[in-house]
Amino acid sequence: MAYEVIARKWRPQQFADVVGQDHVVQTLENALASNRIASAYLFVGPRGIGKTSIARIFAKALNCETGLTATPCDTCDNCREIMASTSLDVLEIDGASNNRVDEVRDLRETVRYSPTHGRFKLIIIDEVHMLSNSAFNALLKTLEEPPEHVKFFFATTEPHKIPATIISRCQRFDLRRIPESEIIERLTLIAKDEKVKIDDDALLAIARGSEGGLRDAESALDQLIAFKGKKISEADVLQVFGLVSRRTLDDLSEGILAGEMASVIGQIDELEQAGKDLQRLVLELMDGFRNRLVAVYTDGQAGDVDAERLLRICDILAGADERMRFSLSKRILLETALVRCARAAKVATVEEIIAQINALKAEGGVVTLSAAPSAQEPAAPVARRAAPPAAVATAAPPKPPKLAESKARPSTPKARPAEPAADEMATLKAQWSKIVAHAGRIAIAVQGALKDACPATVEGDTVHIDFDPEFASGLSLFESPRNRKAVERSLTNVLKRPVTATFQVGKEKPAQVAEAPAPEEEYRAEAPEEPAPPPVRKGHAQAWKQRDEVKQVLDMFNGTIVDVRE
Ligand SMILES: [Zn+2]
Repeated sequence: MAYEVIARKWRPQQFADVVGQDHVVQTLENALASNRIASAYLFVGPRGIGKTSIARIFAKALNCETGLTATPCDTCDNCREIMASTSLDVLEIDGASNNRVDEVRDLRETVRYSPTHGRFKLIIIDEVHMLSNSAFNALLKTLEEPPEHVKFFFATTEPHKIPATIISRCQRFDLRRIPESEIIERLTLIAKDEKVKIDDDALLAIARGSEGGLRDAESALDQLIAFKGKKISEADVLQVFGLVSRRTLDDLSEGILAGEMASVIGQIDELEQAGKDLQRLVLELMDGFRNRLVAVYTDGQAGDVDAERLLRICDILAGADERMRFSLSKRILLETALVRCARAAKVATVEEIIAQINALKAEGGVVTLSAAPSAQEPAAPVARRAAPPAAVATAAPPKPPKLAESKARPSTPKARPAEPAADEMATLKAQWSKIVAHAGRIAIAVQGALKDACPATVEGDTVHIDFDPEFASGLSLFESPRNRKAVERSLTNVLKRPVTATFQVGKEKPAQVAEAPAPEEEYRAEAPEEPAPPPVRKGHAQAWKQRDEVKQVLDMFNGTIVDVRE
């Protein structure tokens, strides 16, 4: 028997065999079952994910001699002709090579006549966006008044190139890239049938390389069998496709996160020498960091890295990917990007800087913080115009005795703890984002809520935590012992002694307080000895620019000071 390429041999013949496009298949099956067939369908999606395969199954479904069906028999004459591409009722046109008006005019002739054997004539136009404008105009005339017995099936990778007048007459489906796991599943099946020994890492590498296109994955397997015979390893796949091993990717990612720039540059050098595809490398790194980011939000598995850093790294890589596409010196761009990533992984985030500033203030007692007395109210930043106290009270959920009790606690400076507690406050503030992440890993629900809270005071064995009045609804979460314990464990961990936690509505928005510069009087009056504190005056941006924390923030965001509010 003649050799048949895998992609063709394994082309799905039934809707049930189509991989990874359940939403599309389901809709078509329903349309067939209820006999509500649109006159034109538009299938949008990257190449090699099954657009024309689905079109052919649909053609059989329309014309199978057993009747209109979602499960064509594959044995009747009509089915067999369609499978052999010899059916006179199914016209397959490649938009890329048949874009002349004449051919579309011929098409208009063709659709006028009834189908030869089947119930319908099906016109499949692949890469329909390649048609010329005049060809589209000719096609539109048919689409405006389609004969009952004619159905159109368009496939495209670039829908934006199709005139809106055409699109509006089609039922549109967006096909998705096929997930790696489903591609691996399919390849495993094929390899078994072809009696090819291929290890899991090699399958994963093929799936990675095919970027969600099943046909590409199948062709890759074909190529590998031709190249390596019946035994295929990961190294073979990496070699043939210029991919980087999973392990190298992991090493590189770890190097970036650890800020080891020399090692990162060394690795890139090696990869380039080995002829690896650097553009792909960027995409795969980005994919890896994105997965970590998703894990932070879904599983709470941040490890040592916080979301903000991961976001910055993803941003840098996305920019590099874009620039590398149009550049000849990919390596230089990649190196700069990865060095920036490594830097981003190490440079403090805004949240940390704010926490540090807070900690400094707390240590020196320079500025009163979120549990500030109302005397500071007039200095409130604009953003603090939260709900009035009455509204907060009504919006707040019913509080357990513990909460009510702690709310009654005077939150004035008099209640401020003694020196050791001040140290502990500094620690808590500096490590707050870590505490939040840690508690989130124990009880996922608390992570979001704690972002709108901050430690207010430490009294004995109790840590009081203030909530931003605007987000007071988050308080109810901590009525659950599990959630409260998660926070307590996290606090205990950081303070290295057992503590309990109480939660209450704070006076003001924690983050905003931290960002807002403190009133000038406080600096003068309470910290006269501070080493060269620049004089801060209202609207005096220049003085603020001299401060290290501010410099860091400006540097990080390439920013300028537009306003200083006090
Ligand atoms: Zn049939």
